[in-house]
Amino acid sequence: MTIAKVEPLTTARALRGPFDYLLGERFAHVGVGSLLLVPFGRQRLRGVVTGLAETSELAPERLVNPIAVLGDPLPEDLVELGLWVGREYCSTASRGLELVLPPGSGAAGGAIKARVELRAELTKAGRDALDGGERLGPKQRSALERLAAAGGPAPAADHRDSLKRLEKRGLVALSEAEVSRRPDSVTVGVKREQPVLTAAQAQALERITAGLDGTGGELLLHGVTGSGKTEVYLTATEAALERGRGVIVLVPEIGLTPQTVSRFEARFGDRVAVLHSGLSAGERRDEWQRLRRGEARVCVGPRSAVFAPLEGLGLVIVDEEHDSSYKQESDPRYDARDVARRRADAEGAMLVAGTATPRPESWDRLERIVLPERADGSPMPGIEVVDMRERDGREGHFHAATREALVRLVEPKGKAIVMVPRRGWSPFMDCRTCGHSWRCPNCDVSLVLHRAGDVMRCHHCGHSESVPERCPECDSVSIARHGAGSERVSELVAQIVSPLPVFRLDSDSAARKGAHARILSEFDGAESGVLIGTQMVAKGHDFEDVGLSVIIDADSSLRFPDFRAEERTFALVSQLAGRSGRGGEGRVIVQTMAPGAEAIRRAAAHDAAGFLEGELERRRELSYPPFATLVRIEMAAREASAAEAAARQAAARLRPLLPRDAMLLGPAPRFRLRDRERRQVLVKAQRRSEVIGAVRQALEGAITAKAFRGVQLSVDVDPQ
Ligand code: ADP
Ligand code: ZN
Ligand code: ZN
Repeated sequence: MTIAKVEPLTTARALRGPFDYLLGERFAHVGVGSLLLVPFGRQRLRGVVTGLAETSELAPERLVNPIAVLGDPLPEDLVELGLWVGREYCSTASRGLELVLPPGSGAAGGAIKARVELRAELTKAGRDALDGGERLGPKQRSALERLAAAGGPAPAADHRDSLKRLEKRGLVALSEAEVSRRPDSVTVGVKREQPVLTAAQAQALERITAGLDGTGGELLLHGVTGSGKTEVYLTATEAALERGRGVIVLVPEIGLTPQTVSRFEARFGDRVAVLHSGLSAGERRDEWQRLRRGEARVCVGPRSAVFAPLEGLGLVIVDEEHDSSYKQESDPRYDARDVARRRADAEGAMLVAGTATPRPESWDRLERIVLPERADGSPMPGIEVVDMRERDGREGHFHAATREALVRLVEPKGKAIVMVPRRGWSPFMDCRTCGHSWRCPNCDVSLVLHRAGDVMRCHHCGHSESVPERCPECDSVSIARHGAGSERVSELVAQIVSPLPVFRLDSDSAARKGAHARILSEFDGAESGVLIGTQMVAKGHDFEDVGLSVIIDADSSLRFPDFRAEERTFALVSQLAGRSGRGGEGRVIVQTMAPGAEAIRRAAAHDAAGFLEGELERRRELSYPPFATLVRIEMAAREASAAEAAARQAAARLRPLLPRDAMLLGPAPRFRLRDRERRQVLVKAQRRSEVIGAVRQALEGAITAKAFRGVQLSVDVDPQ
């Protein structure tokens, strides 16, 4: 008797698989990784085989056969990886497995099919006909001549009908072949000569090849933008391919890193597949299949590309490893950087994380190689920290130094980037007479005024309402608008730098498909002007001719009540600075109310090592990652009392299961979001696998309990 252990693919949290199915003769070829359609109660569900067995604990008469096998099996190590994600992030096996399934394998039978192309080839009779035997019309003759010139099967879709007639006469043979839908390759950046590696780059390459020839390993490549990290990735990829190994290259967001993608495509051509959400469903399916079949051996993509079906993986690269987009913010809340480590480790591959601003975690645990300077030899720009507490109230949102630098941009014409923490016009409005403030009815936050569209909007739930003319409490018409978002700053800058153009980049201006790339390339192509926007302006893109960068309110990220606030602020200031002054003089102005803050001081001094050492010390004292694992459990419900009751119960179930050194904090309120009251329980512990196991066990018991009815539960391991 052969039994398949099957994990049904459902979103239900309470289901505990795997379930046993009998494999009759018809299913003899089913193995671990096979995708099946199985009867499940009264439903039919898709399921993944996660194991085989000789016997079952179920009585033989209760065992049933699957209904059908769906498509090709998954590689076994991906099944392992999917199950691991389900466990490690306190999610479910099913949700973990969904991540490794072929794209478009279709929940409701809506699977995406391969594209089939009609092809025609000249037969012997056709060749004879051309040579003079038979009577041919001029069109038919030219069709046959084209096929003769092709010398093999050629696409036939355009002349389908006439070719069909020729087929009837035996002059051509028609056949169908599967073709891959390839995404258009991006064409940013030109093909370059391969430079001779610097000593530091060569050292990095040597370390990576040693890993490829041995049993893998981990390396942090620490270097500013332009220091030659990508060049190391490229040569290392070549080394892996030479050894017959596959490569995964993770990038924060494909739209933000067209240059990286195109450099891989320029160097490796068809051996590169890209996987990301901007592809059509058919393209995604076909790129996945090209990897699965081994036609492509390099996969470039955002976090989900860590699950690419590459066999014989040799190298995983995580570019811009500090980027928060590597963490998935919906269940399973996996961190692609940790999944990458796990996968590289399991497959004996080399892991390379590259960044100008390493995470404390990586600094602490990875061997590192520093690329100390920009490859073109240009110096890093000077960073001026200006104290906004000193400014005179009439100066508005810009420090005198900022204003002066912007004025100077006009003659001779130059380029600048201005980063603003928030989008919209004003983040906060209140009544000057009675103090009433405008807040979201669904969330516990203030509404943001957007001049475009003349609305006030909630940035959490999307609620919007028209701009008030008077106060609903006291009827006063005196309404104050506080602060400045990207919209307002754009207008203020435009006045200062007129007639230079300004370009605004934030999630409002980049909402439409392709808008993001267009704004960047307009700015890139402009002779002069200012790019103004949220954090998006500090990411990925590389402009050669930006002489000035400004950060408005650098400490907005410091004010977050979060242990990562320092790390984020340091990265933001450093990343923006790294993008200016290439190939010439550069100047960076940081406006802040906290000029003494460690993160800002160290960033201004280009001192990543100093910042990280201090930050690690602080984290050690406070028992924060990497010295402890954090797990946040959140309960959300319409009524505060329901969320509170569920949170208390979760805490009560969890407490006795936790390892001795663990700390349980809460239940504590979190701000109301999307009409849900929220409570959280936070666990901090040193022994990672024990604390994760305890949380999983406590919640498995809790979710079916009465207190959890109508309560949304979410678990975040390593919250960001
Ligand atoms: P990063 O990925 O760190 O931003 P890149 O690899 O893109 O850096 O390198 C920045 C620029 O310097 C690129 O134009 C690259 O071709 C060039 N470059 C990289 N390494 C060298 C080298 N060893 N010699 C000369 N030019 C180099
Ligand atoms: Zn009022
Ligand atoms: Zn809201």
